[in-house]
Amino acid sequence: MAELQCSTIDTTCVQGGWRPGDGDPRQVPIYQNTTWKYDSSEHMGRLFDLEESGYFYTRLQNPTNDAVAAKIAALEGGTAAMLTSSGQAANFFAVFNIAGCGDHVVASSAIYGGTFNLLAHTLRRMGIAVTFVDPHCTREQLDAAFQPNTKCVFGETIANPALAVLDIRKFADAAHGHGVPLIVDNTFPTPVLCRPIEFGADIVTHSTTKYMDGHGASVGGAIVDSGRFDWAAHADKFPGLTTPDATYHGVNYVERFGKEGAYITKATAQLMRDLGSIQSPQNAFLVNLGLESLHLRMARHAENGLAVAQFLSEHPKVAWVRHPSLPGDAEFALAQEYLPDGSCGVVSFGVAGGRAAAEAFMAKLQLAQIATHVADARTCVLHPAASTHRQMTDDELAAAGIGADLVRLSCGIENARDIIADLDQALAAI
Ligand SMILES: *Cc1c(COP(=O)(O)O)cnc(C)c1O
Repeated sequence: MAELQCSTIDTTCVQGGWRPGDGDPRQVPIYQNTTWKYDSSEHMGRLFDLEESGYFYTRLQNPTNDAVAAKIAALEGGTAAMLTSSGQAANFFAVFNIAGCGDHVVASSAIYGGTFNLLAHTLRRMGIAVTFVDPHCTREQLDAAFQPNTKCVFGETIANPALAVLDIRKFADAAHGHGVPLIVDNTFPTPVLCRPIEFGADIVTHSTTKYMDGHGASVGGAIVDSGRFDWAAHADKFPGLTTPDATYHGVNYVERFGKEGAYITKATAQLMRDLGSIQSPQNAFLVNLGLESLHLRMARHAENGLAVAQFLSEHPKVAWVRHPSLPGDAEFALAQEYLPDGSCGVVSFGVAGGRAAAEAFMAKLQLAQIATHVADARTCVLHPAASTHRQMTDDELAAAGIGADLVRLSCGIENARDIIADLDQALAAI
């Protein structure tokens, strides 16, 4: 099968990944099987030894998943990618593939709550320490967070739900200065609106559950390797990639697969083998359907997010509004640099009158529906103080940057006039 050369993100969204041969299914088929049959044990042995590529068991690799991963790799400008069962699994594998007990990670403090728990608590129990830094810290403050055992730096292009924009160049330069890669969770902008590898990121992760699927139909994740990080140049820091793996007959991932393929091959061969967390081929198929229209949907999400933010910023019953692309927003300059074509559909704002006003307002909404989800085709809304963060006191909420009045609105791809009319009537009613 010839690799398709797509020059634009739009065409890659539609046509990347699956290239049917003569007489093959036009759409990527769902390989629902767990296993593959071989004529000889010798042939299967070569697959197990990673001497030959081929499929034998879906926990390790599946053609449906591989086709969808190839599309995501092409969209991000990477050399290799893998799908995982969730965004949580993607971020866990991305870090754990290169950091182990006794190691250290530098992470932006403006990250998704689930990722914060993973890094601050679960990885700590596994012996991996994390230093959190304010994403807007100076280069000197960032440099001071590194230790001799630091193995990677982690951040989110647009933080969920804080909406802080990562200065990717600053974080990449610092990471590279200390001989480690930068991992960026690019869930909110998707590669349609930002490709972190172009700014120096080495590894990109996704919760495909959000905009990539886009229809609230499947939970999933992805890891993309830029293929640029020179593991061999920092071999002492990354022995797992640069010395023989006794559990795979002594394979040396960097020697065998080069810097383009070593990281993802190791994650597949070791982490998927031992920890599971595979994407189901059925869900990979659904993600691919979402990807086929991602370029169209992201443009509308971003446009609606900005239109709604503009409307709210002028409304007397709204205390404050946050959207990275809104002129005057604290993140506007960074958004212009990294997200010139738009940022995302998520807007956070405070209803004047605090917690009670936010609750009353949300109860009046009709089109925007209350859901824990974000980044869906349908507009949805969440009051963190009353739901995801309800165990926290108002003081704790304020310390976490999530006021009791904060409403997180995820603008869908409906007509912006209808979303605004719904917000307008709900604000009028309180
Ligand atoms: C939702 C989310 C995750 C976790 O993804 P799941 O698919 O829910 O496991 C990770 N990072 C970001 C930025 C997210 O929004």
